[in-house]
Amino acid sequence: MSAAPLNLYDLTREQLRALLVRWGFASVHTGLLWNYLYLGLADSFTDDAMPDLPPKLRARLQADARLGLLPVALATDSADGFTRKYLLRLDDAERIETVLMRFTGRVTACLSSQVGCAMGCVFCATGQMGYTRHLTPGEIVAQAVHVARALKVGRTVPGEPRLGGDASPYPASNPHRLRNIVLMGMGEPLHNYDAVMQAIDILRDEAGLALGGERITLSTVGVVPGILRLAAERRPLHLAVSLHAATQAERAALVPAARKWPLDELMAACRTYSETTGRRIFYEWTLIDGQNDTPDHARAVGALLRGLPAQVNLIPLNPTSGYAGAPTPSAAARAFQKILADEFRLPSTVRQRRGIDIAAGCGQLAVAASA
Ligand code: SAH
Ligand code: SF4
Repeated sequence: MSAAPLNLYDLTREQLRALLVRWGFASVHTGLLWNYLYLGLADSFTDDAMPDLPPKLRARLQADARLGLLPVALATDSADGFTRKYLLRLDDAERIETVLMRFTGRVTACLSSQVGCAMGCVFCATGQMGYTRHLTPGEIVAQAVHVARALKVGRTVPGEPRLGGDASPYPASNPHRLRNIVLMGMGEPLHNYDAVMQAIDILRDEAGLALGGERITLSTVGVVPGILRLAAERRPLHLAVSLHAATQAERAALVPAARKWPLDELMAACRTYSETTGRRIFYEWTLIDGQNDTPDHARAVGALLRGLPAQVNLIPLNPTSGYAGAPTPSAAARAFQKILADEFRLPSTVRQRRGIDIAAGCGQLAVAASA
């Protein structure tokens, strides 16, 4: 049985170089091919798409490799005009969500890391679906490529530099360039650690999508060994931890994974992470009416995070069919924020509920589309 053809999006630039050398081609072609993949955002190995590549290399790629672009099964625009949600189809016909968000002229892509999720958070549409499989590095990278291609096709910038030169065709001043990545789509990224880190290495590459430095945020439900490994490896990314409750009992009722990684172990890991990396952590808190949004809950999270470099991201619940809770009204969300600020000097944001009309909550489009 022949192996599935190699997906070029699975490879770092160094691995691509090694592949070309193994195939008997000069390694100097690596840079050009990488440009076609991540600056030109080519959709095939044809003469048209990759004109300057040696014909023999193009033929070898056509025979033994593929570009794992993901076809769109469904695309939905939010009425606010700032959010576009894609349901992308994988080779095995599974579907994942990728979201393009345009805030203050900056484009952020929200990527999935798994088909479904094993963590079972009660209010989350992906959790309600259960776990199907991990995504490959190439399937994660292809989501970012998809968003970058969507931006490129949809723009008409006069005098745009052409592909192939030294300069990136996506200068930092261009608001249509893909600027940021959040790993907050379907799945738990630290449950698929190796594939996610490989994908991040590819996305960060300066000669490619160049989403390095401060541009990638990974959100975790609180996989303690994964957080400690991120710290030990000093991975350059922003970390967000989904807290939702400040006591073990309340948290375990919302987040079953808390039984495996209890709150005290999670907070110890977060402390280690911040001490090792010098980085602040974002703590996410889905605000559920009457469940975790009272002044007492605000004081409990303030006390829990005392002394830690922290910012709290408050997310009013997006209702899902599998959970009866309702979102916290905005007055109560503001009161929660005020307690964190006044009594604990803890900065916080209330995430705007962008895209709620297109079910842009975690996993909801996939659920809606399969219903
Ligand atoms: N698995 C990771 C990342 C994906 S979810 C994690 O759980 O952190 C990204 C964020 O959206 C998490 O904080 C998650 O708890 C939150 N979330 C999930 N479903 C939601 C819903 N229905 N309403 C509001 N926030 C939700
Ligand atoms: Fe998984 Fe995150 Fe949803 Fe929990 S909130 S079920 S960890 S995707």
